[in-house]
Order: sequence, then structure tokens, then C-alpha cells
Amino acid sequence: MKILLTNDDGVYAQGIGAIRKSLQGLGEVVVVAPDSEQSGVGHSITLAHPLRVRHVYVDGEFFGYGVGGSPADCVKLAVMEIMKGQPRLVVSGINLGSNTGIHVLYSGTVAAAIEGAILGIPAVALSLDVSGFPDLEYAAIISRDVIELLLKHDLPRGSLLNVNFPSIKRGEIKGIRITKQYTYSFEESVDRRKDPAGKTYYWLVGGREITVEEKGTDIEAIRQGYISITPLRYDLTNHEFIRKMGQWDWGQLEQHFGNSTFLGKEV
Ligand code: MN
Repeated sequence: MKILLTNDDGVYAQGIGAIRKSLQGLGEVVVVAPDSEQSGVGHSITLAHPLRVRHVYVDGEFFGYGVGGSPADCVKLAVMEIMKGQPRLVVSGINLGSNTGIHVLYSGTVAAAIEGAILGIPAVALSLDVSGFPDLEYAAIISRDVIELLLKHDLPRGSLLNVNFPSIKRGEIKGIRITKQYTYSFEESVDRRKDPAGKTYYWLVGGREITVEEKGTDIEAIRQGYISITPLRYDLTNHEFIRKMGQWDWGQLEQHFGNSTFLGKEV
């Protein structure tokens, strides 16, 4: 069994080393990861530049492939070229920093797992909150169990798992919760600064304070000391709204075309 392992913190990051070690013996783990940090690049892909791949050695041993691109690039390149075929599983992480709520949309860690799902491969994104007392080794051990469970049950098409570990010591973790993604915005700010030439520049300051409480969410779970597992899908369609939207008064638009069809409306 071949497992593709990637991340967005880069091939030399601590988190990918920890999960690689923990997955030993489960299958043939092939590391294809960005050669530099790609946190926050989301699902970007590289189209205007060549993608270079090099062999990466850690402590004199072959560790994996470093790609001069994004996490999504890594998954595409791994499947189409480096692994020459579909792995059984895509694992992305372990990211140092949680990927909950809307951060899921900015995350390169989650994007790599989504790319796996797009290619029809079961995928899991792993992230560890680092705001308190993170235990990376323990997160790696639990991640392996989650992965083994996933391999037994599989996922519906277009789905992936987003796993977040709370930032507390191993003995204090309360359990596991299956959660939904928190969807409201966070308190965020922009730091306005001056460069040495006196010109203004800006720095985005990632916010943590939530603005609306919402029960059963990923962020609530890790804040309360639980491991959060959210099943995600990349289909962003608002299925429930299709029917309601079909009931809008489309008269003015329909007069241009006459034969529009609406999923939610008989015409
Ligand atoms: Mn990252």
C-alpha cells in the first residue's frame, strides 16, 4: 500500500517528520512536499513557472521529494509523475497551527487533502494547535489510529477528513468529537508599519477571537480539549438554496432567453 505524505510547512518541517515516523510499517510512505514553507497559500497551483523536484536527505538518509511549488502542486506531481499511479491515501501534515473554521479555506495543508479527494483518493489533513502545550509526538500516534480507521471505512466521493488536535498535554485530552466547520469570521486586524525609508507597509494579523458562538464546531472542540474530526467536501454548492433561488422572480432575465432551465424550478 502506497501512502502519499505532504504538507504546507515544507519538507523539512517537524510535523511531517513526526507523522512519517508514526506511519512506518503501515505502507510505503512517499513524501512529496514543498521545499519551502507554503502556509496560507490555499489551493493555489503553479502555472507560470517550472516545477523543480529534488531529492531531500535528512541525517544522511533519503527522506522524500522537495517540490518548488504549492501543496496542491505536490499532490498533482506525486500522482502523475513521481508515484506513477494513485496512492491508497493522501496524508497532509502535521501542520503546526490549527486549521479550523474559515482558516480551512486559506490552508495549504487542507488544500493538499482536497487535491487528493479531487483525484479520487481518500485524504486526511492533520493540524496541531500550538497556542498552549502542543504534543506533536502524541498527535502523530493518534493520527495513525485515525488513518487506520479511515482505511477500514473509506469516504464518500469528493470528501476528506480535517483533523485538529488541541494544544494540551496528552493526558489532558478529553476525547474525540466529530464536528462541523466554524463558518463565521474571526476578529482580525492589519498592522500598519513604516519601513526604513518611511513608506507605509502592512502586515496581516491572524485573529483568534471568535465573533459568534456556534455549537458543535471544530474550533469549539479543540478549545474544550477535544480532538476535532470534520468531514469536509470540496463541492461548495449551496444545495438547499438551489430550490429557493429558482423561486426568485426571474422575469426580467428570462425575457432575454425564454428557455432558461432552473434546477429548483419547473419551467
Ligand atoms: Mn502550515
